[in-house]
Amino acid sequence: MSKVELNEVYEALADKFITYKDMSGRPVKDDGSKLVPIGEEFTGKIHILEDYRLYTGDHVFVREALIPMLVKAQAEVKAIHPDYDLEIYCGYRSLDIQKSNFERITKLELEADPTLEGDKLKERAHRFSAAPDVAGHPTGGAVDVQIVTPEGPIDFGTPIHSYAKDTYTLSPFISKEAWHNRQLLRACMLKVGFAPLDSEWWHFSYGDREWAAYFNKPHALFTQLPVPNIE
Ligand SMILES: [Zn+2]
Repeated sequence: MSKVELNEVYEALADKFITYKDMSGRPVKDDGSKLVPIGEEFTGKIHILEDYRLYTGDHVFVREALIPMLVKAQAEVKAIHPDYDLEIYCGYRSLDIQKSNFERITKLELEADPTLEGDKLKERAHRFSAAPDVAGHPTGGAVDVQIVTPEGPIDFGTPIHSYAKDTYTLSPFISKEAWHNRQLLRACMLKVGFAPLDSEWWHFSYGDREWAAYFNKPHALFTQLPVPNIE
């Protein structure tokens, strides 16, 4: 396939994504639930991102409703293979980090296509890093997850948190095994109530605007929250 043809396939996939506009149009009625650290009740793996330590220490925080969902998702993953564990790579993210991620991606998208501007540029960057005002991670309702074995992550076609179009969950340009693994992860997370995100195979959410848009709920349940007190 030529580069132009490849891009046409990616554009056809991206055309079906939930957009910034789809999310910003959803009202939010916060249910008042707390941000809590994921504790020992979760028997899968937890990854701590270095630049998050300043904000959330040695913990991954999520809204409390997500804890039983993640416990169930781990059981689903374990039932597929006893060596499999769900790894939570990222949960609550401070708005500071979300803003700097979005700025970095916006710059890269502009380098790739200097003609982009305004809403079009925002939507393009939003495919790889949610626009800060609607982003799910700062609500505590979004998680980035993968399946790991004692030898490391199973093959998902790209590493988690990659910046590449083959992170699109339905990209046909990954191996059959990676495709199958993405479908397994998606099935486990959907089964316990998470909404998937079609631009990033690892991203799932509950209660945020993306979840509300995916399941056509009248409003989201979680607004963005300040960094929790970790003293
Ligand atoms: Zn994410």
